[in-house]
Amino acid sequence: MAQLSDDCFAFGGPMMSVNEAVGLITTRVNAIVDLETVALIHADGRVLARDIAAPLPLPPFTNSAVDGYAVRNADLPDSAERALPLDGRIQAGGLALVPIKAGHTARIFTGAPMPPDAETVFMQEDVRLDDAGRVVLPPGLKPGANVRPAGEDIPQGHIALRAGQRLLPQHVALAAAFGLVRLDVVRRIRVAVFSTGDELASPGEPRAASQLFDSNRFMLMTMLRRLGCDVSDLGILRDERTLLANGLKQVAGTHDLILTTGGVSTGEEDHVKAAVESIGSLVLWRMAIKPGRPVAMGIIEGTPLIGLPGNPVASFVTFAHVVRPTVLALAGSLPAPLLPIPVRAAFTYKKKAGRREYVRASLRRTQDGALEAIKFPREGAGLLSSLVDTDGLIELDEEVTRVEPGQSVGFLSYADLL
Ligand code: AMP
Ligand code: MG
Repeated sequence: MAQLSDDCFAFGGPMMSVNEAVGLITTRVNAIVDLETVALIHADGRVLARDIAAPLPLPPFTNSAVDGYAVRNADLPDSAERALPLDGRIQAGGLALVPIKAGHTARIFTGAPMPPDAETVFMQEDVRLDDAGRVVLPPGLKPGANVRPAGEDIPQGHIALRAGQRLLPQHVALAAAFGLVRLDVVRRIRVAVFSTGDELASPGEPRAASQLFDSNRFMLMTMLRRLGCDVSDLGILRDERTLLANGLKQVAGTHDLILTTGGVSTGEEDHVKAAVESIGSLVLWRMAIKPGRPVAMGIIEGTPLIGLPGNPVASFVTFAHVVRPTVLALAGSLPAPLLPIPVRAAFTYKKKAGRREYVRASLRRTQDGALEAIKFPREGAGLLSSLVDTDGLIELDEEVTRVEPGQSVGFLSYADLL
């Protein structure tokens, strides 16, 4: 399990910027070193544990990039058309052992190995056959055209995949192209998830008139699974310090991260803070971020704990900036900064300097082809519809105080946050 010192999340300043938070996490969280081996088909989303050097060049042999006719460079027509008799036919998967005869051309297909001495391929669309059945080649083709040399994609021995890479389908494809069957990956990060609050009922259970169904736990568990975590659903803890403390203590030794939602504000019914302090150490990170209230960071018996706010939108946004980097750091993943893409604002917005704000927005294409962001009309941090009916978040940096229609703003798609 992750073992962290009690003071690892301590922070001196009164307000922490989002960048400071991410910086603290990435420097202080120790990566898990346990590995497991998975079949390629199960590697999606996992973190690669070792560098992979190309065991063979890609492509493995020099081959034709098109269906056409292979020739020696010495036989390339320079100023006028030239008719060459046919000599040979090479299909994809076929062997090309015999050199092409000088002054001849060989029929060749996409992916077929180039015959020895042949260096250039004419596309079949660019040639015609004359009455004698010879292939008439046009002048002007560059030597080496339409040929894919061995190793042009990746030379043998090149470090093609790095330890810490979160594997996407294209990385799996590369491993398959190397002929690999299984990959060494970091074992899944084990996360225990709790909701807190007397007002919560689990879906499927009776709901009292003053209760609402717990949505955050399912949102967070889903987000964690998308990050490749092994998630333990620990249900809802009541707003009572001892119950909370017992619940958290039980999972400390067996998980890499404990995640809670709710109960971290400073109200007298916010008991997560006191519960963690009674069994471990805790700091409240007052992050300069909206939406998002204080986020609790703690250590219980060496296991990190993150307490997210209860409001669903605040929980969602702080997940992206605190939980996501923590999970990636635990998994030893290469840093994956969130990079907003520039879009045009279709709204007016005022904000305070000194804090980062995230505005829920939908994208639409304007008549001139640009992407335009439409702000969700309401701002409450409890509005789940605001996350469901939009495409992502507009990131407004600390120094911004105003957004005017037409201004360029950074957009983070929900798909990029996970
Ligand atoms: P808290 O952070 O506990 O003060 O909660 C802030 C608001 O978020 C309250 O209105 C809670 O009812 C709501 N809330 C807390 N936890 C959840 C949850 N798991 N699912 C949905 N809403 C929640
Ligand atoms: Mg609460």
